[in-house]
Amino acid sequence: APTTRDHGPADLDDLRSWQREVRAQFPIFSGQPDPASPEPAYLDSAATAQKPLAVLDAVRTYLTTTNANAGRGTYTWANRTTDLVEHTRDRVKEFLGDAYPERSTVHFTGGTTEGLRTIARDWLPAFLSDGDEIVVPVADHQANILPWLETQQALARQGVHVRVRPMPYQAGSGDYDHIALAELAGPRTRFVAATHVHHVYGGDMNPHRIRRAVGPDAVICLDAAQSVGHLPVSVADLDVDFVVFSGHKALALPGTGAVWSRQARGPAFAPGGWSGTPNTAGIASLAAALDWLDATGLDRIERWTVALAARLTEGLRHLDAYEILGCPLSLAADSTVQRRQGIVTFRHRAIDSGDLGFILFSHGFMVRSDSHCQGSAGEKTDSVRVSLHAYNTREEIDRLLSVLHGLQ
Ligand code: PLP
Repeated sequence: APTTRDHGPADLDDLRSWQREVRAQFPIFSGQPDPASPEPAYLDSAATAQKPLAVLDAVRTYLTTTNANAGRGTYTWANRTTDLVEHTRDRVKEFLGDAYPERSTVHFTGGTTEGLRTIARDWLPAFLSDGDEIVVPVADHQANILPWLETQQALARQGVHVRVRPMPYQAGSGDYDHIALAELAGPRTRFVAATHVHHVYGGDMNPHRIRRAVGPDAVICLDAAQSVGHLPVSVADLDVDFVVFSGHKALALPGTGAVWSRQARGPAFAPGGWSGTPNTAGIASLAAALDWLDATGLDRIERWTVALAARLTEGLRHLDAYEILGCPLSLAADSTVQRRQGIVTFRHRAIDSGDLGFILFSHGFMVRSDSHCQGSAGEKTDSVRVSLHAYNTREEIDRLLSVLHGLQ
């Protein structure tokens, strides 16, 4: 029976007691189970993540001791709120391994969509000239496609013609075709929008190879929605110009996110400044979430979620009724194939993915089952996505595999 079969990789016995302690810090999982309902399993962290108690406590402390507006005060609470915002900016830089914080900026947003859109609207137009080219990742999240096309159209109305070059992909794997990208990139390729970890295939899109392909002068804007908060991300290591992420996917409150930017290859990115009221409670939650992630250990979080994903993939490979999207072979410990993170997406050969999502929910599994806001590169993307964080357990994966086995 699938529940007793060893699903292969990812036993990770050294991490099991660590993981139990991690999970115990998430109040949402500590409620009394309802005996009349199946045990809930949250497997949709790529959409948004659950929050540890430390994050909830930080928000409560801020709102019950300090709440005021930022950047405009002459009294203690207002000054403390301003300090909180500035501290969190520094904290984001530190969390991202920024070795030159005096040369970078952090702008708070409501999430990755708003971050990318702000760059497209407030920064990119002044950077581009007639005849320039931009690379757009047409099979990634739509949040990383539409804003760039809108900028191109807005510039065209002003008589500035920018050519959009679709990012090339390797057929079947979901990875970029870095060789084709190198052939496509020329001296007029000034801006490259890319994704760090793909939100459907779970593959690491390898920013080092993107930089090598496009050369030293192009600006690279990295959609890091599925990497920041899930694995160590260091801007000292990645030669990119923008890192855009969602705080809420990195355990902070809903409506949080940030744009980190380096001022090397273009004009400074400085939208808004202190105009308007920032989401101060959200910013407090972001600082607490980054502290929690560092203290808990991103290396271990990554090892754990990758191992669970490998276990699920391995189990699915034994079930003929399912097709895994992307390239499952890339789980092999072979440096020439793409590294995989904690996202596994699949479809049943006979059951509609929407129906499969409902069936899984009737067993307690909360998954995403649709086309995942993915840009169309001609492929059918309707599928069921399982996305993991540190609070997910091996038992959840094994229970899921056993239900999937029953639906064969
Ligand atoms: N980019 C990627 C790769 C994503 O996975 C997501 C969220 O699903 C987004 C962008 C949009 O993030 P947000 O909903 O925080 O704006």
